Amino acid sequence: MPRQLHYAVAIVGAGSAGLSVAARLLRASKALHGSVVIVDPQTKHYYQPLWTLVGGGVVRKETTERNQQSLIPKGADWLQEAVVRFHPDENRFVTGGGTEIRYDVLVVAAGIQVDWDRIKGLKESIGHGGVCSNYDYNYVDSTWKSIREFQGGTAIFTQPNTPIKCGGAPQKIMYLADDAFRRSGVRGKTDIVFASGNAAIFAVPKYAEALNRVVQRRGITAKYKRNLVELNAVRREAVFEHTDTKERETIRYGMIHVVPPMSSPSFIKDSPLADAGGWAEVDKHTMQHVRFANVFALGDCSNLPTSKTGAAIRKQAPVAARNVLNVLAGQPLDASYDGYTSCPLVTGYNRLILAEFDYDLTPRETFPFDQSKERYSMYVLKKSLLPKLYWHGMLKGRM
Ligand SMILES: Cc1cc2nc3c(=O)[nH]c(=O)nc-3n(C[C@H](O)[C@H](O)[C@H](O)COP(=O)(O)OP(=O)(O)OC[C@H]3O[C@@H](n4cnc5c(N)ncnc54)[C@H](O)[C@@H]3O)c2cc1C
Repeated sequence: MPRQLHYAVAIVGAGSAGLSVAARLLRASKALHGSVVIVDPQTKHYYQPLWTLVGGGVVRKETTERNQQSLIPKGADWLQEAVVRFHPDENRFVTGGGTEIRYDVLVVAAGIQVDWDRIKGLKESIGHGGVCSNYDYNYVDSTWKSIREFQGGTAIFTQPNTPIKCGGAPQKIMYLADDAFRRSGVRGKTDIVFASGNAAIFAVPKYAEALNRVVQRRGITAKYKRNLVELNAVRREAVFEHTDTKERETIRYGMIHVVPPMSSPSFIKDSPLADAGGWAEVDKHTMQHVRFANVFALGDCSNLPTSKTGAAIRKQAPVAARNVLNVLAGQPLDASYDGYTSCPLVTGYNRLILAEFDYDLTPRETFPFDQSKERYSMYVLKKSLLPKLYWHGMLKGRM
């Protein structure tokens, strides 16, 4: 017989979204203490937004890591197992450890899956020989090593045409690398190529215009609609495929920063919770599942049509938590999310464009100045202030 447990609220994933919702629920309702379970197999939690600056050699990667146990809010149980199967029509799910959790309300917050194996040759070459990525704690140091040791030639920075976490991150590291190459004196013998599977540099026209100017000023070659499909580490060759014509182009590299394709986690993709694309299918304002009224999803694993960032989750979590409480109380849902997201676009050491926008791609800027301008103050915000707000505010359900 599998172990069976029952909770009022079961939260799948103890990342940015899962912990934020848990903390908010427990702050709002003393009655929920002891009735909330967070299910996540990972012993460590990472503040991923700083990985850009780790890759740029500005901060140490250890500063982005905490023990998961220290972040689980008081009043919640932590089940350190991976969910393998959802049965939402029976209000239960099953873990790989054989535990069955029954719930009154389920919150799905399991993040995004990085599909390293969808690029031929990547798994074998990542982390050495100039092949690096900021998209994994284990490889993020290889980015700074590749930049530091680069002696000139072609430096490629890729972006896939799938949804990814932080759509701006693939280009942020490129601007830091450009600065680093100038400092070390190799920029004169270097070609920098931005190869993106998307059709443009950024989705919001106001910030796209500013970023195109940055690319031009820096002398970067931007190639669009190009997906990286294969790496040959021995010959130091990267093969790209045009997203429309399927034509292939091979480029030799000295270093290559790879952002792999990403997708919804397989155990969500293969479940009744998924939409046609595999994402947890929720109402874009209430975050309630469209078929199961006692299921909510938010963050990177959801189909919310906004860019996948921690900043978006900061605005989603209060809405999701409030609507979970509404369902538990038998009340109509009264909280709504407008698609707010933000991307702190690092455009060099000490410079940053702070993009903020909503579902309509309309800028929603916080500060009383034009945030599409590169500013030192916004760089300081990202490097020093936002991490503190994350650990002490967002994850504690305070903001
Ligand atoms: C290089 C980089 C730069 C970024 N820059 C920024 C930035 O500048 N600003 C910004 O706002 N955001 C940025 N982000 C994005 C941000 O980190 C993510 O959007 C955010 O962490 C997503 O939160 P989440 O809770 O949805 O997923 P995560 O925080 O990834 O957490 C998902 C959790 O689910 C757990 N899980 C997975 N599978 C299972 C399972 N089967 N059962 C149980 N649990 C499971 C995982 O172990 C994990 O703990 C960046 C990300 C990266 C990688």
